[in-house]
Amino acid sequence: MAGKQKYEAVMGLETHVELLTETKMFCGCKISFGEDKNIYTCPVCLGHPGTLPVVNKKAVEYALKIALALNCSINHYTIFHRKNYFYPDQSKNYQISQFDLPLGVKGYLDLDMGDYTRRVNITRVHMEEDTGKLVHTGSTGRISEAGASIVDFNRCGTPLIEIVTEPDIRTPEEARQYMVELRNLILYLEVSDCSMEQGSLRCDANVSIRKQGAGTLGTKTEIKNLNSFKFLQKGLAYEIKRQTALLESGKEVIQQTRHYDNNTDTTKALRSKEEAHDYRYFPDPDLVPLNIEQELIDRVAASIPELPQQKAARFKKQYGLSDYDADFLANDTYMSQYFEDVCQHYGDAKAVCNWIMGDFSALVNQQQIPFEKAKVKARDLAEMLKMIDSGKISSKIAKSVFEQMFSTGRKPEAIIEEQGLTQISDTGLLQGIIDEVIGNNPEAVSQYREGKQKAIGFLIGQVMARTKGKANPKLVNEMIVKKIK
Ligand SMILES: [Zn+2]
Repeated sequence: MAGKQKYEAVMGLETHVELLTETKMFCGCKISFGEDKNIYTCPVCLGHPGTLPVVNKKAVEYALKIALALNCSINHYTIFHRKNYFYPDQSKNYQISQFDLPLGVKGYLDLDMGDYTRRVNITRVHMEEDTGKLVHTGSTGRISEAGASIVDFNRCGTPLIEIVTEPDIRTPEEARQYMVELRNLILYLEVSDCSMEQGSLRCDANVSIRKQGAGTLGTKTEIKNLNSFKFLQKGLAYEIKRQTALLESGKEVIQQTRHYDNNTDTTKALRSKEEAHDYRYFPDPDLVPLNIEQELIDRVAASIPELPQQKAARFKKQYGLSDYDADFLANDTYMSQYFEDVCQHYGDAKAVCNWIMGDFSALVNQQQIPFEKAKVKARDLAEMLKMIDSGKISSKIAKSVFEQMFSTGRKPEAIIEEQGLTQISDTGLLQGIIDEVIGNNPEAVSQYREGKQKAIGFLIGQVMARTKGKANPKLVNEMIVKKIK
């Protein structure tokens, strides 16, 4: 076998998701982002001695929603543990987490990789609390160049869900796709804003290399805190290359925690990996065990909406869309809803899809606004499409009408009336213009008569220019051909 094919990579991901509850996991402090430092803290989330944490019911429901959407079995009896470690942004010296009885176990997520499907098994979904945040002073924000580090405890105690996969991922592309699909799924559940920039969705990646076909796993390294799809994919690609080079030169991979540096596109060692027993987990004596009743599971399960993959499958069947179109629409909860709203008023789903994925998406991207904030009402887009079909406006004019609908939120009828954009299908009016264009362009006319089909396009273009794009091009074509044949 060729050198490069001798090894295969084995990857697993641990993803952290901050939940969108109003209050923290074990106290009543408000959850906020980007406000003044240390304004949402209390003795409970700071871990003062003698204080008693109380489980946030909403957070448990949200966690259940995620576990169920990932096809997990639910532990009816579940408890919280203390995970003991010292870290400056963790004032109690332990984090409340779950150890041997996590909320959800043995789930899966199927990745659509285009040519194949990759099933990624989910080992566990557990609940925990987030830590505070260290802010390093100085312009670079890096600890090595900071004059001081200050602690902001607003984030400490935010409900956090950890989703751990089996080592089922084989390529950096699969890892990326896993994060993309997981993020879409959680956004659909409306339990987190999944903002990777703000840290509400972040992941650690384990990666090891082994001889192709080997049954055992190689020594793994862990890349910490990957907070973008791109960094995840690039960090893993670098780490696979690094480990492969080590093994090929007869050296060993050392088990360690590494950091991906996007400036150099490399990973660097942070520390040797702690073993789980270093954390000295023990059941939190201040928290009672949770009994997850079947009734609660049923109620949460019933509240799970149609998920992206199910929606894409339905779009293919119901509207006859291609795989690509269906996935594109279904991956965005607002866009897919909008698509269906337009289809309520207008029957050609493919045309609706083309407008949303084409002109609509282009304007959304250009103006960098979220899709759901766009001003074009579904009914108005449907009306505009009907006007193209009936010949009231040309598809060229429609583009400009749509741009105005997008920037003003006005109805297409109003824009068309006001600016006199109605398509000219009046043969009497067009005949005069066509005669003139034919008279002025004898060369194009003779070229057409000699069999050059392209010449007709030039003549149509002249008519369109004179009518400022308002002539019905199909009709113009017919009339010119009839005239000069
Ligand atoms: Zn608090």
